[in-house]
Amino acid sequence: MEQPIIEMNGLTKHYGSFKAVDNLHLSINKGEIFGLLGPNGAGKSTTILMLLGLTIPTAGEARICGINASRNPIPVKRKVGYMPDNVGFYNELTALENLIYIGRLNGIPEKEVKNIAREMLVEVGLETAINKKTGTFSRGMKQRLGLADVLIKQPEVIILDEPTLGLDPAGVKDFLELIRQLNQRQNLTVLLSSHHLHQVQQVCNRVGIFVAGHLLAEGNIETLTGNLFKTAPYVVQVTLKTAIMPDVQALQLPGAEKITINGDVIEISGQEDITPDIVRYFVHKGFDVTSVQKKTYGLDEIYQQYFENNLKENAPNEKSGRSFFGRFKKH
Ligand code: ADP
Ligand code: MG
Repeated sequence: MEQPIIEMNGLTKHYGSFKAVDNLHLSINKGEIFGLLGPNGAGKSTTILMLLGLTIPTAGEARICGINASRNPIPVKRKVGYMPDNVGFYNELTALENLIYIGRLNGIPEKEVKNIAREMLVEVGLETAINKKTGTFSRGMKQRLGLADVLIKQPEVIILDEPTLGLDPAGVKDFLELIRQLNQRQNLTVLLSSHHLHQVQQVCNRVGIFVAGHLLAEGNIETLTGNLFKTAPYVVQVTLKTAIMPDVQALQLPGAEKITINGDVIEISGQEDITPDIVRYFVHKGFDVTSVQKKTYGLDEIYQQYFENNLKENAPNEKSGRSFFGRFKKH
């Protein structure tokens, strides 16, 4: 099996008695887009800083491309492009001048640096703003320039801390699409953090749900959904056009484990997908079926469910349950 490109083994960071990151075990493979997902204060940035060797772990270790990050931060820095959550540029310089400066810092030879910087700006979609001063840039343009900054040294891995923060919905969509293209074109491994559930869902192959320093769950959306909704994973919503809705008790639907009626929508869940039986049943009973929809769970539900389950586990110890809740902010 391929060696993971990022490995965290028991990674832990305490600030005094406060556990910002607690015993984190996680591996990320080459070519993956992994989303570190969690509310503010969950420990995402602290984890990223440990991955880069910028903060020393209290316990455990982080390896990138097999290199121990806290012992060898310089080789790690060569392989990893890091975009912090507050990218800054020289406002009086143009995009090209800013990028040439970064290119030089990264040791790109003088005769190549201008061309490479230009290519990078085209790559991130800033071709029309090459000679504009960055002081005039929108947040979305700054994030693109930040990405060019990170890519100019041709890293194997890029780590983006809250890259979509402050972007409007269209900006978020475009930026994530750019990440996806880079990942596909260059088989670039991407680790990005976010507290915006929907955004991460759009682009990540796998996510880790991180709350109060703990990784609550990790996997692709399908696996996470499967684990959570084991009891009745198939949910179908049927809308009927009728003056009188049927009585729940009277519905004879073999395979249905739970039936609820809300307005003109009947929700049926069970262990198997019995959608065709459901449709046949209502049609046979003389109802006009106006829509049939299989319900799929998104990250919102998953996030919420994991969070709620975790709260239940903490319930006997009310104090820890409450403090846990206090630290959770949904945005
Ligand atoms: P996130 O990036 O998920 O929002 P952070 O990793 O920035 O979370 O912070 C996790 C927790 O650790 C927060 O409660 C934060 O206040 C605390 N923390 C982060 N850095 C320090 C520090 N240098 N000293 C003390 N506490 C810190
Ligand atoms: Mg952060």
